Amino acid sequence: MNIPFIDLKSQYENYKEEINKEVLSVLESTQFILGPQVTKLEDSLATYTGAKHAMVCSSGTDALLLALMALDVKSGDEVITTPFTFIATAEVIAFLGAVPVFVDINEDDYNIDASKIEEKITSKTKAIMPVSLYGQVADMDAINEIASRYNIAVIEDACQSFGADYKGKKSCNLSTIGCTSFFPSKPLGCYGDGGALFCNDDALAHKIRVLLNHGQEERYKHKYIGINGRLDALQAAILNVKMNHFEDEVAKRFEIGKRYTKLLEDSLHVKAPQVLDGRTSVYAQYSILCQNREELMKQLNAAGVPTAVHYPIPLHLQEAFAYLGLKEGDFPVSEKVSKGIMSLPMSPFLTREQQDFIVASIKG
Ligand SMILES: *Cc1c(COP(=O)(O)O)cnc(C)c1O
Repeated sequence: MNIPFIDLKSQYENYKEEINKEVLSVLESTQFILGPQVTKLEDSLATYTGAKHAMVCSSGTDALLLALMALDVKSGDEVITTPFTFIATAEVIAFLGAVPVFVDINEDDYNIDASKIEEKITSKTKAIMPVSLYGQVADMDAINEIASRYNIAVIEDACQSFGADYKGKKSCNLSTIGCTSFFPSKPLGCYGDGGALFCNDDALAHKIRVLLNHGQEERYKHKYIGINGRLDALQAAILNVKMNHFEDEVAKRFEIGKRYTKLLEDSLHVKAPQVLDGRTSVYAQYSILCQNREELMKQLNAAGVPTAVHYPIPLHLQEAFAYLGLKEGDFPVSEKVSKGIMSLPMSPFLTREQQDFIVASIKG
């Protein structure tokens, strides 16, 4: 049985006519930067999330960078985040000369442990940057409550959770700024790099829009030091087609995730991901915690089931962050989970037969 880890091929086959038509129309129009496809996408992203403003940009990493820039995070500032994430989250903090201050995760959803945030707040703390990992939103109510008491901003790294629900609201619209990624394998992916920022504040939205276009308010009048962080029209056209099918894909992802969990219920050596009360998951990854990961990976790969590890090394143990002087044992939950976590094939196009085969391969 041929099982892709993320089935982009089936997705393209399903929407091929629409995608080809829209891509061709951009080529014919020669409007490659900004333009109507980009505006249309921003409108539908704002409507979907309920955020007043959506600004598309060049990647999820750039979205996070722009969020920090818009909040004037600079050298010497501190930003609280999780060590159990993709490097981009903390990379952009360090890139601006600020200090990533890590707080360990909890074992329920693998997101930042909100009860451990307050003890890390200092007079230098500018923002809290929780990550909604694997497609499930972090404990945003608790995080927002702490942030509002200290008058600091919250940036949701929603690069894996676009489409997820949190107490009746959408991920990306739960804090000062929400950031997502349209990297091809994300729940809403384009055919290259892309991302978006979301917020409800008019002035902040304007600043983000200016920053991502070289700090330019009017042509050749530059108010800020910005970046070239625009999304191109071809990617916007592809995303506009995928947005038409997104609701349906999110429902399928949730069903497939629930079915995995049900099928794995009686497996003693793996722990299925939990979806906490008041939340849904878009399962950017369906990740199980294994007692003996390396052995199980070998077993699955021998059966033809592709697997991946998100993420094998927590950020405080990465060479790039050695200068922070952190060590093994500083964030025990992140360290434990990084040693046991493993992602299974996941996409809205995963069939029941494929899923049954994967689970049978796990059970040996
Ligand atoms: C993918 C991802 C990013 C970066 O997004 P890109 O579009 O690849 O730059 C940042 N944070 C998390 C949690 C991600 O999964």
